[in-house]
Amino acid sequence: MTIDRDDIPAAELDPREEIEVHPKGNLILQVGGKSLYRRVRRLIVQSDNIGNFGSRWAAAVARSEREGLFSRRRILHLPNDDANMMLVLMWLSHPWHMGKVPKQLSFRQLLAMTSLCEKYDMNLQVSPFIRRWIVPHQSKLLVPGREQWLNIAYQFGLERHYITLASHLMMNCRADKEGDLLVPGRHEKLADHIPEEALVEIRRRRIQALAAFFNVVYIYVEAMENEDTCQAKLPLSPHEEIQAVLKNERTMCTHTNHGELVRYLKSHGYWPPITQAHTVPMSVNEVFQCLIATPSIRFRPVHNKSLQSAEAPSSKDTPPRDIAVDIHYYCDVGKVLAFQLNEVKGKLEMPITRDTTDAMRVNAETSGLQAEIQKEGILPSVPNDEQRR
Ligand SMILES: [Zn+2]
Repeated sequence: MTIDRDDIPAAELDPREEIEVHPKGNLILQVGGKSLYRRVRRLIVQSDNIGNFGSRWAAAVARSEREGLFSRRRILHLPNDDANMMLVLMWLSHPWHMGKVPKQLSFRQLLAMTSLCEKYDMNLQVSPFIRRWIVPHQSKLLVPGREQWLNIAYQFGLERHYITLASHLMMNCRADKEGDLLVPGRHEKLADHIPEEALVEIRRRRIQALAAFFNVVYIYVEAMENEDTCQAKLPLSPHEEIQAVLKNERTMCTHTNHGELVRYLKSHGYWPPITQAHTVPMSVNEVFQCLIATPSIRFRPVHNKSLQSAEAPSSKDTPPRDIAVDIHYYCDVGKVLAFQLNEVKGKLEMPITRDTTDAMRVNAETSGLQAEIQKEGILPSVPNDEQRR
């Protein structure tokens, strides 16, 4: 994960390895040492006190061992936890240390704190500080490399942040040959950053969105193959011959649009039709931008009867300067598809399950952010795709 640039500096904490958190300490939390968390600290706490933080801590304390054969202290090894953030968590849980709690955390530290809160069910303990820690980072919600914001949003119940980021990923992640999602603009797998359940839902909604866009296009191609889709208002004529010529104009309009669309799709690798949306490597946004850019044909009327009959459009209508061209304005494949694709885009399902929403609402209550979220303007608005452009 490469997020150091633009991150706020890591909070500096008491440099000593062994720290007495409780004056009557009888339990050593030996934290860190493995994988991400190299730094080791020995935090001396009181076992009854720690056990009272909740069932997860009670279970952890029960796993502790005697420090040595003749020692009265016990030791609990927590090699996979971040030692610095565990120290902050212990300060938060012992009121007389509250003044030592840092006012700001770097993004990495915030992530480590999020993991601890999840693992030990400690939202309540961090609630006095969590808003202050989160706010400086939220303007970078959509910056590539910060996808683990999803974990933060989930753990503390920031629903709007979660939906904004998950939707952004659904729209902007490409997929590799195995179908795994990539961080937008990078060759890293998204899987390294976020939880599997979130990933499954984002992937599922991405495939649905791609399929929905391709569907619009292929259904229209099929319609053009089955009948004339031309919308031009051509005059009725009592003469069969003229009527046939006018009918012919509709067919020519349809064929021209059809041919142009198929050629355009082929040039982008979307013809013959894509039947397996999950094999498409491009992002949903890229596919959308490509399809919506289907060129306008500007089919011109061929029969002079149709020219004569073209009604002058009202001033409110879209810009038909050249009436001869504009009787085929509404059958132009570029315009028809742009309208239909935008409509589908507006109705795409968000990549969040009911279970995730419910869990986040419970988390918002324990983190104390529920009340904050309801007070409008307390948490500044999250950036969305539009604002970023
Ligand atoms: Zn037409």
